[in-house]
Amino acid sequence: MSGHDTAALPAALPALDWTTDAERLAVLSRDFSWFSPILKRELQGKRADLAVRPRDQAELKQLVGECARRRIPLTMRGAATGNYGQCTPLQGGVLVDMAGLNRVVWQRGGVVRAEAGIRLAELERRVREQGCELRVLPSTFRVATLGGLFAGGFGGVGSITYGPLAAPGNVLGAAALSVQPEPQTVELRGADALALHHNWGTTGLVLELELALAPAQAWLELVVAFADDAARTGFDAALDFGDALALAPGLPKRNLAVLAEPLPRFIVQGGAKWAAAFPSGSAVALVVVAESGQGAVAELAARFGGRVTHQADSAEAQRRNATVLELCWNHSTLHALKADPGRTYLQCSFTPGQHLEQVRAVHRRFGQPASPGGSPDSAEVLMHVEFIRSLDGPLICTALPLPRYQGEQRLQEIIDGYRALGVRVNNPHHRHVEDGRFGGTLPAAAAAAKRRLDPFCLLNPGKLRVWPLPE
Ligand SMILES: Cc1cc2nc3c(=O)[nH]c(=O)nc-3n(C[C@H](O)[C@H](O)[C@H](O)COP(=O)(O)OP(=O)(O)OC[C@H]3O[C@@H](n4cnc5c(N)ncnc54)[C@H](O)[C@@H]3O)c2cc1C
Repeated sequence: MSGHDTAALPAALPALDWTTDAERLAVLSRDFSWFSPILKRELQGKRADLAVRPRDQAELKQLVGECARRRIPLTMRGAATGNYGQCTPLQGGVLVDMAGLNRVVWQRGGVVRAEAGIRLAELERRVREQGCELRVLPSTFRVATLGGLFAGGFGGVGSITYGPLAAPGNVLGAAALSVQPEPQTVELRGADALALHHNWGTTGLVLELELALAPAQAWLELVVAFADDAARTGFDAALDFGDALALAPGLPKRNLAVLAEPLPRFIVQGGAKWAAAFPSGSAVALVVVAESGQGAVAELAARFGGRVTHQADSAEAQRRNATVLELCWNHSTLHALKADPGRTYLQCSFTPGQHLEQVRAVHRRFGQPASPGGSPDSAEVLMHVEFIRSLDGPLICTALPLPRYQGEQRLQEIIDGYRALGVRVNNPHHRHVEDGRFGGTLPAAAAAAKRRLDPFCLLNPGKLRVWPLPE
């Protein structure tokens, strides 16, 4: 126990669904922070004193009021697929499983409003019934929740068309619950709602979100393989193909990733079902386009020396657990770490217009085999690229490179090397909100939201490096 008065809570609110078992609490308090050897060490043994699963907003309100009166910390939990220990309580208290708040509140036209605990796959299923689909999803969409994506994630699948979740027009509003003895529901619209985005639940407890939707498409998944030839590497060809496809205006797209050798092989090691799609020694592009684009993608692939090795209806592939969407984004990291546990990951974005040049430059510097002609496995940093539109529109690459972990100092040298080549690195090995995306300082709007919605600083305490902020 952390010293907070948590032991009295179940007696004070006996109707709530509590978890008190220490082993279960340890499991519930963990996410995918083990991707980082640094976070794994720093978060070791951190867990909630109690967990609770409110069945509806009324139960949640009772809980929050009681915790605010007793000054007990509250950490929200969606599906715990975050990868920076975001839902791991650093100061004990109560872990709040949001899965019970899973209603679609309404859907009209191209807009849906839903409770924060709904799983994204379920929300996608529901909006598809009305001819729409979600604009942006993480590759963990099967289990991840809407509130978890908003408070912990950035975007992913769909960002090639709609940019990150934070791009204006994607999130239209949010309802938050203030953490006070008499909790208040506060409606935030447009940019004000984004003050709660990607702050790991430190700046506000999200009850409901309102999202703009896209028209539903029938999506086709393709794998295009690129072998090395005398003129250039398969990875180089795959990058040029990816850029041309990303820019092609007549081809609606949902995702586009490029994996350099040996990442496709690592995936095959973990699941033989991909063996035919990923020929040994080739780089691959993982493509999700509108069904009508099949012929155009095959022609484009041939123009860049690629070969379509796999295609499948995306909805069917998801049902069969064989979707390329679960090889993209940090799923590629997951597969790679299973094959080579000595690696970790970084998160980068490249400058519009210079993105291919920069990817090639970092790959030349850190991605070559340890000796000329050696195995690609021996490279210090393996490369995985995703094409997206940036917050303000231009097409860019982002990347989730996989360095061999040789200690914090060498990891920092690699980050510095990337930065020296003009690449932005959002270091995922930090446990403070300010040190990732925000580059050191909590934005003023986020700080103002926290003062209003969490005046006793009970939400996920310890995750803000500086709080209260100096006047
Ligand atoms: C294999 C893998 C692949 C991934 N791919 C992607 C990707 O493509 N794109 C991406 O953006 N992320 C990705 N992630 C990170 C993560 O899966 C997503 O961000 C996901 O949306 C998090 O949802 P969750 O329900 O699991 O949230 P959790 O991990 O449970 O929570 C995330 C954060 O949100 C807070 N939170 C949860 N609910 C609320 C609420 N109602 N109010 C306030 N705060 C709340 C939690 O306290 C925590 O700080 C990936 C992670 C893994 C392990």
